[in-house]
Amino acid sequence: MFGPKSHLTARKGHLFLEDVDLIGLAEKFGTPLYATSEARLRANISAYHGAFPDADKYFAVKANGNLTVLRIAAQEGMGADVFSLGELYVARLAGVPKERILYNGNSKSEADHRMALQAGVRMSVDSREELEYLSKTARDLGREAEILFRVNPDVSPKTHPKIATGLRTSKFGIPAEQVAGTYQRAVGLAGIKPLGLHCHIGSQILDVSPFVEAMKKMMDIAGAVVAAGCEIGIIDIGGGLGIQYNPDAPAPTPADLAAGVLPVFKERCYELGIAPKLILEPGRSIVADTTVMLTRVNVVKRAHVNFAACDAGFNVLARPMLYDSYHHVLVANRAGSPAEETYTVVGPICETGDVLAKERLLPKLERGDVLAFLDAGAYGFSMASQYNGQPRPAEVLVFGGEAELTRRAEDPSALLAGQRIPARLI
Ligand SMILES: *Cc1c(COP(=O)(O)O)cnc(C)c1O
Repeated sequence: MFGPKSHLTARKGHLFLEDVDLIGLAEKFGTPLYATSEARLRANISAYHGAFPDADKYFAVKANGNLTVLRIAAQEGMGADVFSLGELYVARLAGVPKERILYNGNSKSEADHRMALQAGVRMSVDSREELEYLSKTARDLGREAEILFRVNPDVSPKTHPKIATGLRTSKFGIPAEQVAGTYQRAVGLAGIKPLGLHCHIGSQILDVSPFVEAMKKMMDIAGAVVAAGCEIGIIDIGGGLGIQYNPDAPAPTPADLAAGVLPVFKERCYELGIAPKLILEPGRSIVADTTVMLTRVNVVKRAHVNFAACDAGFNVLARPMLYDSYHHVLVANRAGSPAEETYTVVGPICETGDVLAKERLLPKLERGDVLAFLDAGAYGFSMASQYNGQPRPAEVLVFGGEAELTRRAEDPSALLAGQRIPARLI
């Protein structure tokens, strides 16, 4: 019924996540609610370990910054790809060892450099200019920065333009032709120890070929670096593997990715006489399908179309509004009922663009029904906001037949966090 999503089943008219009735969950914890399957999360990580037994896998924290999710990823042997001091803080708290953290970013401040150096984590350097800034900060602190270079491989990932990051025109990375020279400069630079190369070509990529192309370009650049007399200890090809959001758009598996990129990696390493560590940085393909977002229907309005207005909008799930993304919708209390009517699912936010799903054929809806948005574990809660005075929802972890709260829902006092009225106005 749900394709490869074996952790979701229909039982006696209700949708279950593992052995937990999602209607019971909605009643106990309220809606909107994010519910994550621990078993699915562990299985997704295992699939990567199986496909890439010799590579390190760093979880991209921006996809899902839930402390418990990160704890499980750490338990399963993943490192972390972090993009800010906040993500670094959460990853360290979750128990990710500092040796397996890469601090990324195209716009790091001096404070970012200093904190990352003090935390003892590696950094991905995004430009020749950043290299010089970092060298100075490292010397001031009497530390050595272990770095990778973020390469712009100029590869089109065939994905939504807002999440294509490896195009020549994107803001990320060092242009391919500058990399070898920059690497050579870094070797002699005080406070700097270059370890290797890094790229990330984009996200939600549904075809293996752009990854193969990126791997070829990375190995070409590695060849130029080696020819310049430098050593390469790490090749990091980032994340970006897509998932099947839409029944009509199947995604490659980690094994498919491995079948594409590993032969190129191994052959080119052999030719160059190098044996670097391979690193991958999956985010979405680890967490997206572990999680459903539950939202209750407040109003069924018959207008020029049928609107189902629910209690989650783009404040809770931003992807449809940001990227026109498709999330499959099931009616959690009418699982197995025939689809009879077409609905456009909208949220409570005061904007016309607050549409979560367009013209979906669903069982006949009523006020109080609970909709399950599938594959909401990546860039779901992590992009949630308090816009329009909406406290953020709770997150729960499902384990077998149990569900445990991993983040309580905010109450309206969260909207006031840190605010004060200047005394003269009181
Ligand atoms: C976002 C990001 C990732 C993860 O991308 P997914 O598409 O979620 O796998 C990995 N590496 C870097 C540098 C990123 O910016």
